[in-house]
Amino acid sequence: MKMSKLFVQTLREFPSDAEVVSHKMLGRAGFIKKLAPGVYTYMPLMWRVLKKVENIVREEMDRAGAQELLMPFVQPKELWEESGRWEVYGKELMRLKDRHDRDMCLGPTHEEIITAVTRDVLKSYKQLPVNLYQIQSKFRDEIRPRYGLLRGREFIMKDAYSFDIDEAGLDKEYQNMAQAYKKIFERCGLATKMVQSDSGAIGGSVSHEFMVITDTDAGENDVFYCNECDYSANSNHAISKLPPATVDGKEYFKEKKILDTPNTHSIEELSEFLKIPSTLILKSLIYIIDKKPVIALIRADKTVEETKLMNAAGGIDIRIATAGEIEELMQEKGFTAEAGFIGPNGMKGIKIIADETVYDMKNFVVGINQTDKHLVGANLEDVLTDEVIKADIRLVEAGEFCPECGKPLFVTKGIEVGNIFKLGTKYSKPMNAVYTDENGQTHPYIMGCYGIGISRTAAAAVEAHHDEHGIKWPLAIAPYQAVIVPVNILDKQQMEVAEKVYAELKSAGVEVVLDDRDERAGVKFKDADLIGFPYRITAGKTLSEGLVECKIRATDEVLKLTPAEAVKLVKEAVEKLEK
Ligand code: ATP
Ligand code: MG
Repeated sequence: MKMSKLFVQTLREFPSDAEVVSHKMLGRAGFIKKLAPGVYTYMPLMWRVLKKVENIVREEMDRAGAQELLMPFVQPKELWEESGRWEVYGKELMRLKDRHDRDMCLGPTHEEIITAVTRDVLKSYKQLPVNLYQIQSKFRDEIRPRYGLLRGREFIMKDAYSFDIDEAGLDKEYQNMAQAYKKIFERCGLATKMVQSDSGAIGGSVSHEFMVITDTDAGENDVFYCNECDYSANSNHAISKLPPATVDGKEYFKEKKILDTPNTHSIEELSEFLKIPSTLILKSLIYIIDKKPVIALIRADKTVEETKLMNAAGGIDIRIATAGEIEELMQEKGFTAEAGFIGPNGMKGIKIIADETVYDMKNFVVGINQTDKHLVGANLEDVLTDEVIKADIRLVEAGEFCPECGKPLFVTKGIEVGNIFKLGTKYSKPMNAVYTDENGQTHPYIMGCYGIGISRTAAAAVEAHHDEHGIKWPLAIAPYQAVIVPVNILDKQQMEVAEKVYAELKSAGVEVVLDDRDERAGVKFKDADLIGFPYRITAGKTLSEGLVECKIRATDEVLKLTPAEAVKLVKEAVEKLEK
């Protein structure tokens, strides 16, 4: 490819809406062009990268025994009603109507479709197990599309679905996919951590995410991990052992009584006023889960983890209540308390979920729905009724201890590039997707599903591999593996060497660009760094010694080599890539 012909325009500036490195660099280097929020054109350079990621994924999925198919992007409502998700999926599901007024949606994922496809085909235990996958555009009307390709509305995903006759078969396939995923990300040049996670809207019981660990803002997930054992989990799922704390207030409160606590709206104000540690305060918070108020109780020095709370309540949508909603609830229950004085008593008919930390507390302080008052010296029987649900709804914090080996936990940020779920019969049961066993009895398939964000993986590679000048593509997914830069295209000798190296690399199967533009060397070097070609071979001054310069972008090392040596270096690196 000649640079003068390459359909790319590098920009002087980063896109104005770009917050994270991959969005900035892919925009500025001309890889992506925004059409609407979260919707991008993959320009030729980007498309080459995406196809490489896709091919690695394809090769490893095929190797793992899965078979590729392609399902429609537009899906009918009826299947989503069968699974029960039409009502619950929420606004991320982009709904539309066809000319006959039939409800359709743009596929955000394909569990319904694959289950409908397989139930017509997989009828006997003899046909199982099967794993089917596709590489397809998805559409999710994300509430906050941002970070370029990391969280788009339209994006490319590989999604696979496995069908087994029993749990043991699913376990085996789950491990098989975990191994394939490890290989895929390694081949893409990405170090990933496999972490336990919540199963989210897709459902199912067990799931793991593959995280690219990054200390930048692009990591939207907090990952807790232990250095002593291999425990690691997304914060929405992590658990921990707590260090010892004062949870019995007997030194402070000789008896149970209602105390005036004026202006103590926050936990800090209350613990200061009472001169007690916050571990002696029971905090009551009001959330709205699936449009209904829910009260969460937790030891006040700890934080509620919303996904855990939502799961404990059996909901699919959660947010903290507004001041207005709290006021309304108080009125409904006959109270007048302001926020800060809320408590579980007298809240009949409202779901109350108490964190495990609550159950260790004695002689503590709790709100009683009266402004400027608290109950002190309270005990569990004073606040918890039979209807209260006990659950772990606590957000883990660094400094707490590993649930498995007791050593300290650490926290870091991660970008989720893939995940694997054990679905069980979540879709096969409601959709009546069954096979017949040896005795002629029917059973729903035991399913798993396995996703990889193709476009997110490419962007995550930029997050992981760049410097202030631009991208440092891993060789396996670089749009082109090398660029040849003649410093001055009017210099005959430089041009001759450049053309020769270019021809030799091309015939050796290397993907190479010749920068034949009549531009200053500085401009060409800048573009080469920005675009992130793994190798840059420069034909310039050093030709007087018979040498070219070979810059290795990953390390920015510059070698002086004969043209033949430079060709060999690049050719061998490309040959070494795993197939
Ligand atoms: P997230 O928690 O980041 O929203 P998810 O749990 O919704 O992800 P899945 O539904 O499991 O993701 O999709 C499988 C994979 O698709 C994810 O691991 C991720 O790599 C990718 N993915 C999901 N949402 C997006 C998006 N909006 N833009 C780009 N890639 C995405
Ligand atoms: Mg999502």
